[in-house]
Amino acid sequence: HNLILGIDGGGTKTVACLAQVVPDGSFHVVGRGQSGSSNLKAVGPEKALENLAEALDQAWSDAQVAPESVSLAVLGLSGAGRPEAQSLLQQWNTENRIAHKLSIVHDALPVLAAGTPDGSGVALIAGTGSVAFAADSNRKTAVVGGWGYWFGDEGSAFWLGQAALRAASLASDGRSPATQLLEAILDRLSISDPREMLTSLARCGDVRSAIAGLADLVSIAADQQDTAALEIVSQAAGHLAALVVAAAKQLELGMRFPLALAGGVLSGSQLIREALLGELAARGVSPDSVQLVTDPVNGCLKVAMCEI
Ligand code: BGC
Repeated sequence: HNLILGIDGGGTKTVACLAQVVPDGSFHVVGRGQSGSSNLKAVGPEKALENLAEALDQAWSDAQVAPESVSLAVLGLSGAGRPEAQSLLQQWNTENRIAHKLSIVHDALPVLAAGTPDGSGVALIAGTGSVAFAADSNRKTAVVGGWGYWFGDEGSAFWLGQAALRAASLASDGRSPATQLLEAILDRLSISDPREMLTSLARCGDVRSAIAGLADLVSIAADQQDTAALEIVSQAAGHLAALVVAAAKQLELGMRFPLALAGGVLSGSQLIREALLGELAARGVSPDSVQLVTDPVNGCLKVAMCEI
């Protein structure tokens, strides 16, 4: 069949795509599947592998062909940078005969491949987590941020959700002026007492996703000119711009380079995208091109086509 496989594994969802390689050097997607997070660090190896398998199974049934080993699989996985993660995944591939060759790449590499003219420039992801990834024309790369939600991932959905909860708790105490974020969070969690915010989040089981799931409330409130929400948006945009600037600086890309954006925060909020571009301009950066990559799995397939 000469099939290739792309998997985009994020902090919230995993998307698998099977594609047929066409003799003219392009590909067309024949099957697609989706499941929960495959971030090994965030959900643990067992759950991550389970979600990878589920997305893949779905892609095979969508393609309506019996599963076989594909010639090449490119996995863009968040939280899979460590050698232990790589060997775990290689072993998973060997045991399940998923691909003759499995290539595990940083989750921002496919974003860069899909969202820049020639794969060089900076890719910024603000999804459940956040990271900037730069590559120059010699294929030298740099990673900035992506430290995970315990102490990093500034400007990500988790960070925004946490900032919203912090603002709501301060306002509820009377330690800061009222914000509509409080009401919005209570609504979203279906509770009426702010003191129940903590227990309600704990009940969700996956606290990280539950907090990240509140991120959109910040842009909604900011769109309505809520002061606390506007402040959070501007801080998030500042953090995200700083990631881009630091990544570009590490590779001496100068002040003009192609910029590719991905992740739920950036694709979901025009306000945050605009604030980010404003913060970049304030730092002297004016990107050559700005492209929003809404389906990074296509980037995985594009990377696969270059490797095949
Ligand atoms: C993960 C990184 C990932 C980033 C963007 C972070 O939480 O630790 O590995 O690149 O999110 O998805």
